[in-house]
Amino acid sequence: MTSTEIMTDEKWRAIVENDATYNNQFFYAVKTTGIFCKPSCKSRVPKKENVRIFQNAEEALSANFRPCKRCKPTNERLPDNEWITIIIEYIDKNYPDKLSLETLAEISHGSPYHLQRTFKKITGMTPVEYIHQVRINTAKKYLLQSDRAVSDIAKMVGISNTPYFITLFKKMMGTTPAHFRQLHESEGIK
Ligand SMILES: [Zn+2]
Repeated sequence: MTSTEIMTDEKWRAIVENDATYNNQFFYAVKTTGIFCKPSCKSRVPKKENVRIFQNAEEALSANFRPCKRCKPTNERLPDNEWITIIIEYIDKNYPDKLSLETLAEISHGSPYHLQRTFKKITGMTPVEYIHQVRINTAKKYLLQSDRAVSDIAKMVGISNTPYFITLFKKMMGTTPAHFRQLHESEGIK
């Protein structure tokens, strides 16, 4: 059985101040990222309502949280492929939001440099290239399955700048979004 400890002001202060004297007294997990840390972890301070407190690393693991890559709460390294899987899942879910190498590195508790290299080693593309791929593939679906304006679709896939969206789409698909839609519409009429 997994018991969740109660968050106290003292524990919250230890998390906010990265207080190493609390290491081994408790661990904290962040529901939105699925990652757990030592109190001393220098990662971005999470939202308090997303934090769960555990007495030890085993309990956090059995509640399906994964150890943070930066503070290594189990004192082992997370294998690279598992780390990249977390980031891919995060992009797949959050592509409509503002995403950059830096935000992904912060969320996944690694350095941007290390993330860039490891992501490319495992997937063959950079995180930003993968974000583009997810966005353009989703945009293709919206273009074919809805009557929404191109600028709306751009926003729905996380690109608020429509000219940039069109340029990126053209670069990846060899045609503009409007033309892509037209081509497939005329196919449908035949
Ligand atoms: Zn950490």
